[in-house]
Amino acid sequence: MVSIATLGSHCALQLLKGAKDEGLETLLICEKKRERLYRRFNFIDKLILVDAFSEILEQKCESILQKNNSVLIPHGTLIAQMDSKQIESIKTPIFGNKHILRWESDRALKEQLMKEAKLETPKSVPNPKEINGLVIAKRHGAAGGKGYFLASNENEYNKKRDQLIKEGMINGDNDLYLQEYTSGVLAYLQFFYSPLKNELEFFGVDKRHESDIDGLSRIPAENQLNTDTISSFNVIANSPLVLRESLLDDVYTMGENFIEASSKLVPPGMNGPFCIEGVYDENAKFTSFEFSARIVAGTNIFMNGSPYTTLIYNEPMSMGRRIAREIKQAETENKISKIIT
Ligand code: ATP
Repeated sequence: MVSIATLGSHCALQLLKGAKDEGLETLLICEKKRERLYRRFNFIDKLILVDAFSEILEQKCESILQKNNSVLIPHGTLIAQMDSKQIESIKTPIFGNKHILRWESDRALKEQLMKEAKLETPKSVPNPKEINGLVIAKRHGAAGGKGYFLASNENEYNKKRDQLIKEGMINGDNDLYLQEYTSGVLAYLQFFYSPLKNELEFFGVDKRHESDIDGLSRIPAENQLNTDTISSFNVIANSPLVLRESLLDDVYTMGENFIEASSKLVPPGMNGPFCIEGVYDENAKFTSFEFSARIVAGTNIFMNGSPYTTLIYNEPMSMGRRIAREIKQAETENKISKIIT
């Protein structure tokens, strides 16, 4: 029987609770400083204590995972703390397509995949000299919005870039990606695709609360006019959304196009959880600025199921539990190679 393993952060509690609900053994790779937190939860069977998550690449950790027949579930912390080469070198079987994670962290590849998926995206601005409207400057990789800023012209951009250089967050222009800013209602669309059933499930929608950009709306406009301030988009929390029902058909189409595009560009394609992230404008048109090719932390809202999973399952179904169920089914049908890389 397989066991489920993950890194102690991001959505580990949801993943391991879901695995336990499906009757599977659970392992947590846990930084020593977080041991006290994770010992509180009795659905975690084993803790592998490490000083740093990079120890997952070391023989000692690998052999514990191998002995326990573990499947590793990747999440945002793995992407944030390891580069794609390191992730590809992990010997423990990874749920989903680990090769697509490189497409998530490389902005050029990301753009290519989103275009192939026919997603409407904001234009990128290749050179700060070409800024002629509001742009968002983002750091490469899954920085989670930290150190991102807005600028309306080259001067403003230069000032804020220099501030980030001074703070040691970037080295220069090459560390920033500029994109037109899109206004509207932010929505993070969560999906699960099962290659075993060849079925797309729409799991839920969340919005993020990002600091300090969210706090700005509480301040009178004249006090916001300090252009020297970097308004970070650092994610602090998530809350649930429910979409107008008339938008759902397009949501499924976006998810299906994404699956089709990824199977063409990144074999074996997208399987398991993913998220398409963007903005609905005043005409309810969706522009997508980002995807995550793995479970997102916004699914933590729905540990007991979401309004949309209620339509598919007659029991509480979290994304973590859904993943465990897929792994169990693959094992029973002898198809585990179809869902891991
Ligand atoms: P993560 O990996 O956590 O998703 P990331 O580093 O890839 O983060 P994005 O998701 O692209 O970064 O952006 C972070 C935040 O910045 C978004 O949640 C959103 O609030 C804002 N944002 C990004 N791009 C745009 C855009 N083009 N228009 C408006 N807001 C944007």
